Amino acid sequence: MSVARTLRTVAELEEAGLVPEGSSLAEIARVGERYAVAITPAVAALVDASDPGDPIARQFIPDAAELTVLGEERADPIGDLAHSPVEGIVHRYPDRVLLKAVHVCPVYCRFCFRREMVGPAGLGTLTPEQLDAAIDYIATHPEIWEVILTGGDPLVLSARRLSDIMQRLAAVEHVKVVRIHTRVPVVEPERIDADLVAALKASGKTTYVALHANHPRELTAQARAACARLIEAGIAMLSQTVLLKGVNDDAEILADLMRAFVENRIRPYYLHHPDLAPGTSHFRLGLGEGRAIVERLRGRISGLCQPTYILDLPGGYGKVPVLSTAVEETDDGRFRISDFRGGEHLYPPQPGD
Ligand code: SF4
Repeated sequence: MSVARTLRTVAELEEAGLVPEGSSLAEIARVGERYAVAITPAVAALVDASDPGDPIARQFIPDAAELTVLGEERADPIGDLAHSPVEGIVHRYPDRVLLKAVHVCPVYCRFCFRREMVGPAGLGTLTPEQLDAAIDYIATHPEIWEVILTGGDPLVLSARRLSDIMQRLAAVEHVKVVRIHTRVPVVEPERIDADLVAALKASGKTTYVALHANHPRELTAQARAACARLIEAGIAMLSQTVLLKGVNDDAEILADLMRAFVENRIRPYYLHHPDLAPGTSHFRLGLGEGRAIVERLRGRISGLCQPTYILDLPGGYGKVPVLSTAVEETDDGRFRISDFRGGEHLYPPQPGD
């Protein structure tokens, strides 16, 4: 589907022929009023509108199922707010922080774990004073070795603003690594130009770009070229994928995706179990189902292609590798999980837990 600019309303999606036949327009419009919508030309070009199960459409086109919110779902599924000492900073683990400078994205994923925070009605962009306070927090905490720029998608910022943030982080002696989480190389590859690449380099620090992509079709020739521009400038790349029902809950699809990452010099890093974000139960599979899929990857594909399957514990208790002794199935089909501080949790939580 060829479109000239980013589509931001359900009416625009319908006009472009991107609303699947048989969908209730009224319901989809209600979803569009509740959660942000955006589809870039690069993503629209990937959608196969003739396939009712198209894995690209499923990730980006609003679905009436988003109106169903379950009791265990929550507005802040991974507990960012519980660990936010100043606006824009999440300090969950001792040696690293998230710096959320912007809550805008080039596309809005229907399963987004921060869907209550991103978009036009979300938390917006840090003011200059808030950014000063966030950088000051980093500068005055010598245990912070790594800063993770996330959001939203930090690569929606201009090269000038990104360069300003990177230079300010470069001036903090104890910060050694800056990691940037983004979908831009896939969903808006033309944005990765020489100015933006130059902006991401911080003198004396190592920059990693962690690319979020969920299906092998997302790695188009343009996306691969955008990644090559980053890598050839000396920026290391990692991958992040969300395990999603109806998109990539299949060992063959994941194998193709992980191989495509490695072929493009992107080291597979995390495969995330989907979070308990509101209205996303149609994307969530059970932890046992996820384990079975990931077990099938072992031995089939090179060790270089194996991501770590990870669950972010609800409530802000941090990440846990699902295929580890920290995760144990109980007799009632739930999982007893130890967090990195030794706390115990049952997953999935029951409403009200
Ligand atoms: S790009 Fe990331 S933050 Fe933005 S909507 Fe998608 S998952 Fe959410």
